[in-house]
Amino acid sequence: MASFRRNQNLSKFQELIAEVYTLPDDRLYSVWDLVTHQQRFTMRALKGIRKEDLKKTKLNLMIAFAWQMATVNRLHINLEEVVWKRFPALCSYCGKKPCSCKESKVTKRHKVVSRKSQKPNSIPEIQKMFDEIYQSDQRTAADAGVHLAEEMGEVSEAILNYLGQHQQKQLDEIKEELADYVSCFFGVANSLSIDIGRELEEMFYKGCHTCHLAPCVCNYTKVAQLQT
Ligand SMILES: [Zn+2]
Ligand SMILES: [Zn+2]
Repeated sequence: MASFRRNQNLSKFQELIAEVYTLPDDRLYSVWDLVTHQQRFTMRALKGIRKEDLKKTKLNLMIAFAWQMATVNRLHINLEEVVWKRFPALCSYCGKKPCSCKESKVTKRHKVVSRKSQKPNSIPEIQKMFDEIYQSDQRTAADAGVHLAEEMGEVSEAILNYLGQHQQKQLDEIKEELADYVSCFFGVANSLSIDIGRELEEMFYKGCHTCHLAPCVCNYTKVAQLQT
């Protein structure tokens, strides 16, 4: 059965999204449409932060994440691999845990070397890893939200470039920006004490979170009008 359990890993979630949404996504949406939906629900989540509406933030954040996974599937990217390469239990910029970018005013990206033994094996472990790198008591939820918006913009920019010129290095840039989005997605969740594994389990206990079928049968209009 197409379902997700809280202790499963990112790859399993990616497989679930493929199983539930590849058919409707391939028929109904371009890559650009997928990104627009990710953006739309990310911004709705930010509205939830501004209005201090945790329920709204949670739900929209998870839906945005599922749309990002749809793009990842369309482009045949292994998100778990990309995230680990960018964040091997260290800040991708200063190379430290906890991140010391602010204090040390790092201006150049350090090379980060992965240590396989520390690779998280489930979504809760990834969430914990990000909390250890980017400690949530060092920022407000609004700050985390602004950073998420920034990364959403960079994902769009990278996809725009790639769809224009189709160069391998531009595809690699998309991977990096998707990983950065993931880090901020976990960042917002950590700032608001949202348990991502649990939220995804509650939404995806049976197929699509709206029609509960696999493949999803939600039509274009229904999705376009989804207000959460
Ligand atoms: Zn850092
Ligand atoms: Zn559906």
